[in-house]
Amino acid sequence: MKIRGYRKTKEIKGRIINATISKETNKYYVSVLYEQEIKEKNIIPKTIVGIDLGVKDLVITSFGEKYENKKYITKYENKIKNLQKWLSKKEKGSKNYYKVKTKIKETYKKLKNARKYMIHKITKEIVNENDLIITENLQTKKLIEKKEMSKYISDASLSEIIRQLEYKSKWQNKHFYQIDTYYPSSQICSHCNNKNKELKDLNKRKWTCRNCQNENDRDINAAINIMWEGLINNIKLFA
Ligand SMILES: [Zn+2]
Repeated sequence: MKIRGYRKTKEIKGRIINATISKETNKYYVSVLYEQEIKEKNIIPKTIVGIDLGVKDLVITSFGEKYENKKYITKYENKIKNLQKWLSKKEKGSKNYYKVKTKIKETYKKLKNARKYMIHKITKEIVNENDLIITENLQTKKLIEKKEMSKYISDASLSEIIRQLEYKSKWQNKHFYQIDTYYPSSQICSHCNNKNKELKDLNKRKWTCRNCQNENDRDINAAINIMWEGLINNIKLFA
């Protein structure tokens, strides 16, 4: 049997406790559980980043960087959608029905793995480069952007990004903070701090502030606000 990824065993730095072998569709997976002691150290943050989460661009930082949802992920998602359509036309319980069902399962597994790999890369980069990582609250997105987000909010990607950022920050003795649910990061102008209450159409990628006339990129503006809000709430870290 071919084994892939075994070189990564070098990344295991602690004491191995056990290994579990699992089989999913036609592939085998080995998960290794190991124990590693992390010494807690209180670092004073020197770099801070605010993070806004989205759909087309998964992660948008207060530095203006955008990490987009990779094309191969969309490809898998579309393939699953098509297969599901196809499945609905097949006679339940027939040979073809099960064939398509297996295909869906396989594609879903591929999607899950590809997604995981992509998110690991993004979160690793962000945590390596920053000492204080501030994210929005997904609950907020649900409340404010109900219409646009509802079908995506179930998308496991966003909560997985937050989960990884949190534990990776902990591993590296960095600081992770999630802002309050009701903070209106998308309505405040990061240029003059004015709250643009009338701003309702959140599909617009750019908007002009009523107060200072600054043209704001919707996502970068939100990320900058998230950064400031987190900074204000964590001022004690800098003492
Ligand atoms: Zn403004």
